[in-house]
Order: sequence, then structure tokens, then C-alpha cells
Amino acid sequence: METITRTKIADLLKSKSFGEKVNVKGWVRTRRGSKMVNFIALNDGSTINNVQIVVDVEKLGEEFLKPITTGACISVNGVLVESQGKDQSAEIQATEIQIYGTADPQTYPLQKKGHSVEFLREIAHLRPRTNTFGAVFRIRHHMAMAIHRFFHDRGFFYFHTPIITASDCEGAGQMFQVTTKNLYDLKKDENGSILYDDDFFGKQTSLTVSGQLEGELAAMALGAIYTFGPTFRAENSNTPRHLAEFWMIEPEIAFYEIEENMQLAEDFIKYCIQWAIDNCMEDIQFLNGARKHLYKNEETDDLIERLNFILDNKFIRLPYTEGVRILEEAVAKGHKFEFPIFWGADLASEHERYLVEKHFKCPVILTDYPKEIKSFYMKQNEDGKTVRAMDVLFPKIGEIIGGSQREEDYDKLYKRAEEMDIPMKDIWWYLDTRRFGTAPHSGFGLGFERLLLFVTGMANIRDVIPFPRTPNNAEF
Ligand code: ATP
Ligand code: MN
Repeated sequence: METITRTKIADLLKSKSFGEKVNVKGWVRTRRGSKMVNFIALNDGSTINNVQIVVDVEKLGEEFLKPITTGACISVNGVLVESQGKDQSAEIQATEIQIYGTADPQTYPLQKKGHSVEFLREIAHLRPRTNTFGAVFRIRHHMAMAIHRFFHDRGFFYFHTPIITASDCEGAGQMFQVTTKNLYDLKKDENGSILYDDDFFGKQTSLTVSGQLEGELAAMALGAIYTFGPTFRAENSNTPRHLAEFWMIEPEIAFYEIEENMQLAEDFIKYCIQWAIDNCMEDIQFLNGARKHLYKNEETDDLIERLNFILDNKFIRLPYTEGVRILEEAVAKGHKFEFPIFWGADLASEHERYLVEKHFKCPVILTDYPKEIKSFYMKQNEDGKTVRAMDVLFPKIGEIIGGSQREEDYDKLYKRAEEMDIPMKDIWWYLDTRRFGTAPHSGFGLGFERLLLFVTGMANIRDVIPFPRTPNNAEF
């Protein structure tokens, strides 16, 4: 076969160099046609759109074309011609085809369109080849780019916090242990407690639930940082919004009070959504149509309206106490929640969504939560009851961001840690920031997959990460 430099389909479809010899490589979506002429829809992942390959059957031979079935991978040389079809500008008149790999129609699982998302999760090794998941994972990439761009442009430094940690003090969820110990022959003391002095790190270690504590150390030196990495929570909640392994973005900023922190969170989310609109419109438009068939019993709004709605509205700022009052009023008027609501209760996602979707019809930043339901490091308010927490609540999602102003006073922080039984051996280094040059500071954590749920319109968090980890599920 003649050697021609490969063009990606995304570029080819924009090209106007009709008459030129080109090469494309990709996976066959469909092949149809007659005894005279065949049409191959080819996709290479660079775009949701396929390029049409027009094949003169007599020229390439009917027998040769037979193994070119859905899923097969081919390389095509041909001439770029202006398309007669209305949706596309360019197609390829094939002169030569090389078959890289066939895909037996008897066994290749992605034959027809319209597989259920549940089935596609069982073949997560192949689902990126579907239009839907191609779109989702391209958007995932673009959102990661947006995040780095947003912070970089504002002078934040990307700081890498450890994934293996020896402290279990965040209280953010059950942790996964990391060990090289022989689990069949554990070294124990006379009371039967496991000893870790013979373990790899000489102490008990786990996978991190958050990079925040180390992020704060960095903010106290570099001024403004963000982390963007995997986090792990062994929570046994089989919800459409929780993963055992997910990615989190955690900015931490010296000298920020909670108000500036809230503004940063609002600007940040809006920037990401604007980026999606500017860079991913074809994929978003595709998903807007596709997801109607993906999830049963899921009411589907218009995705583009949903995104613009966020850009057009200023997020409401509301104290927790006010939020609870509104929810109690709703209950008094006959609204039924599954979980009880009262001052001091941790809000369930149904409560969060009621405030956002029914009451305000707008994203809400809920502040000043009771200290009992929040972490030890949040700055205490004068009232002695609440802390300067801020959760950003979104339509469809509920909590998308959790953050706070941090307690910068050594004595108050020490006392709160003691009250909450946090071992000093785990956090002495964290407390040191309050002993040496302490400063007011704030930060938050955005769940990357929660943002993707919102932007892609997918209804289950397992469908916005390539290989989801959830209870009883770690395949691939
Ligand atoms: P939730 O109440 O929804 O379980 P959380 O309060 O435990 O969340 P934080 O500790 O505040 O969450 O974490 C910050 C952000 O990380 C959350 O706002 C959310 O976007 C995301 N997040 C938390 N837990 C998970 C999870 N298990 N899977 C995916 N994203 C998560
Ligand atoms: Mn939270």
C-alpha cells in the first residue's frame, strides 16, 4: 500500500483540499451498500463524526471486503471528494484498504446501537468505542484542560499530594488500607491487636480520601495551589453519585476568607461550563439526543439549556440555618422527604435538590453548618455552634463542591481536634502551620465526576469515569 501521512478524521472533515490523496485509519462503525458500491462509516475517536468511505466493490473485490465488518480496524488510502450527502462536507473515494484487525460479527458485542448503559458497564473495555462514551471521555479530557487552564491563568500552582497516607483524620469516609503484610499470618500483640512495625511503612497506611491537609501546607508557602488527583473512599453507598475511586480538584488559598472562596468556586464552575460550551458542543449535542434512550425513568432536560442556566444565574448564598427553615416549612406544607430534616441534620441529596430545584431554582451555596456534622479543621464562628463551611449545591447533582474557611487559630484547632478524638501523632505536622506563621486561608474540593455528570447529562457516575470502582466492582 502506498505510504501517505495519516490525517485525523476531525481534521479531514474540515478540509477543503478536494482531489488530494489522503490516508485515514480507524474503526468501522458500519458497512452497507450494494453489489456495485459500498459505504463504510469510519471513526477514529478524534471526533463524534464518522467519515464516509466510498468503495467501488469491483475494484477492491467482494471477498476482500467481507471481513470489513462493524468493529474492524482499517487503514484507507483514497481521494478526498466533496460529499453529496447533506450532513458532511468531505468523504473519501477509496483506492486501497489495509485491514489491521477484524472483529468477528458472531462475538463482537457492539453490533447494534442502543445497548443499555448497564450492559455497556459490563464491557467497559470496549465501551469507549461507542458514540456515547467517546463523547463522554472527550468531554472528560476537555474539562481537565479547563481546570488546569483556570488555575494556571490565575497564578495557582499544581501541587501533588500523596496518595498513600498514614493519617486517618479527615473523617471524609472509610479508608482502604495499604499493606504488604501477609494477611494469613498477621503479627499481633498480646491483646490481639495487629502490629504494623513489620509492615512496609512501619505503620498503618491507607489510600488518601483528600489532598487537602497537605494542600494547606503548600498554600502556606506558595500562596495559592490546587491539587487534581485520585481519591479513595470505601463508602458502601451504592448511589448514582458515589465512587470508591474518584478524582478531586482541591484549591487552597492563603489570605482568602469564605466570601472570596465562594466567589472562586462560582467563577471556577462557570469557567468549566463555558469551556465545555466553547470546545465540546458537537459531543454535548450528541449526548443531548442520546441520553434520552440511555436511562429508563430518567426525566431528561435540555442539556444546553442546563449549561446556559448556570452561566446566566448568580449562585444564591444561604446559611444552613435558613436552608433548614425552608425545608421544615416545605414539610409543614406537606412535602414528603425520605430522611428527616431538623437543625443539626446532615442534608441528604433530596434536601439539597429541593432547595436548588424547587425553592430557589438556582445553584445554592450553603454556609455556616453545625460544627458537629463538619470536619475538625473548619473555622469556628462566633456563635460557638456553626463553622464556616460552604457546600455548592447543584440541580440534578446535589453537592458538587464542599469547602470551608480553615481554622487558623492554633488553640481552637487543637481543642477541636481533641474533642473529635483525632490522634495528635497523625496531625502534629498539620498543626505546625498554625504554630509557625499562621494565616487565614480557605479552600474547597470539587468532585471531578460530579462536574462531568452535570456537563454530560449522564445520570450515573459510573458512566463518566472510564473504569468505575464501586462495591463489588473492580473489573478491568
Ligand atoms: P457527599 O455528602 O455527597 O457524600 P462528602 O460531603 O462526603 O460528599 P466531601 O468530603 O466534601 O464530600 O468531598 C468534596 C467533593 O468530592 C464533594 O463535594 C463531591 O463533589 C465529591 N465526592 C465526595 N465523595 C464522593 C464519591 N464517593 N464519589 C464521587 N465524588 C465524591
Ligand atoms: Mn461535603
